[in-house]
Amino acid sequence: MPHPFRTRFSFPPLPFRLTLIVLFLLFGCIPFFFKGTVLTRTFSQTTLENRQNEIQNRSRILSTKLTRAGYLKNTVEQDAALNTEMDTIASVYDGRIVLIDSNYRVIRDTFHLAEGRYHVAPEVIRGFRGENVNGYNGELHYLLQTTPVYELSAEGDSFGDERTVEGVILFIASTEKLLQSLNDAGSTRVMFDLITVLLLIPLTLIVSMMVSGPFRALRNDLTVVAEGDLNHRVEQNAFTVTRQISEAISTTIRRLKDAAQSRDEFVSNVSHELKTPITSIRVLADSLMSMEDAPVELYKDFMNDISGEIDREAKIIDDLLSLVRMDRSAVRLERKPTDMHGMLEQILKRLRPIARLSNVDLTLETVREVIADVDEVKFSLAITNLVENAIKYNVKDGWVHVTLDADHQFCYIKVEDSGIGIPEDQIDSVFERFYRVDKARSRETGGTGLGLAITKEIVLMHQGSIRLTSTEGEGSCFQVRIPLLHNESAAKPAAGKEQAE
Ligand code: ADP
Repeated sequence: MPHPFRTRFSFPPLPFRLTLIVLFLLFGCIPFFFKGTVLTRTFSQTTLENRQNEIQNRSRILSTKLTRAGYLKNTVEQDAALNTEMDTIASVYDGRIVLIDSNYRVIRDTFHLAEGRYHVAPEVIRGFRGENVNGYNGELHYLLQTTPVYELSAEGDSFGDERTVEGVILFIASTEKLLQSLNDAGSTRVMFDLITVLLLIPLTLIVSMMVSGPFRALRNDLTVVAEGDLNHRVEQNAFTVTRQISEAISTTIRRLKDAAQSRDEFVSNVSHELKTPITSIRVLADSLMSMEDAPVELYKDFMNDISGEIDREAKIIDDLLSLVRMDRSAVRLERKPTDMHGMLEQILKRLRPIARLSNVDLTLETVREVIADVDEVKFSLAITNLVENAIKYNVKDGWVHVTLDADHQFCYIKVEDSGIGIPEDQIDSVFERFYRVDKARSRETGGTGLGLAITKEIVLMHQGSIRLTSTEGEGSCFQVRIPLLHNESAAKPAAGKEQAE
């Protein structure tokens, strides 16, 4: 069932390289943005605050000096020095210092514009109340500071508790130049940032090309493979991930090639196997037709052979169909708890007539009765093939011994015989499709070379395993092991129950 969210919110695929470029530029520019806005603003604010503190301090020092000099009481010799100091301070801070006496009359103006006039601004009034007023006019760009000037106390200093404010210093400092220099520095920084961002663009293009390059190469390689060239080498080792993808793709291609090769082999084997009986039929039919006045017995004899070949063809086709069905219905095993002893008894009962033909002794030993989860039809076919082979490839008056055993996890079925055995170097090959050790004998006994392949397939479908041990001239032993799988399938001891005939 498809995931509801996955189907509803599926985004269209993004172009890889463009996404990389956008991400690189974004992350590259974010620091400049922060530096440009946040840091610049903080820097301007701090500079203004510092300037404010400076003029406040200057005003206080000046106020103390004015008090000590009795400036407001007009001591002429000291006025000249203090006047120069006021002019200097005012010019250093690009400002104007105005000194107002207790009658709100301007007695000193560094601009010499307001002397003798009255100045009754609210800040001045607050100054006369003993307050230090400061402020910043952002529109007109100036800092304002009013500082009270006290009369000299009886102790000769200006720090008494009960002091009279004799005057007020009004200090106005322009911030135009300060802001201008800040702006200039800002513009330089913006220029620098702009150049950096401009340099970032080609850099981003190069880096994105380097990152996306191996992936694009992988895509191109895959396109070649998808077009059918399974021999195309896929090897992109620039990044760990591309190397891992390359390896995974190479493994998949190798498997595809193996599958294609085994399919080709299978098809050629199938054609060969199907052709053999047809060739025999043709030879038989041709020789019959070439004979004039052949006796009826010969006809019967030949027709008998032809019928045998047709049976063989039918058997090959049946076995092939079983194999193909097994491939397709691997997931559709109809498993159910099955009494394995009963199943084996049935198989042996069916095969006894064949065993009797060559006087082969067929026995079943059940060490432990067991119920296992199997697809009874398919599993019967697998064991039937083993027992049938054990009879077919046996010696006259030989024996076949079938054993059933189990533990808490697995069911074990052993098929032993006293037959001709299998050469050691061919033990693995006998499970391959159409493989036969002795073709003539297999044909004689009606074998198709598919029996063991079918058995192995069925055992694997049951998550089991099959083992073969054999000695040429002595006999073979096939051991099948399958998991019991379900809880009720516990084995119960059968005290060496044995059945023989
Ligand atoms: P077939 O139809 O030829 O019996 P199988 O796939 O069943 O095909 O077996 C493959 C080959 O393995 C047989 O042709 C035979 O040579 C060999 N073989 C199988 N079982 C035995 C056995 N019990 N003893 C000796 N040879 C065997």
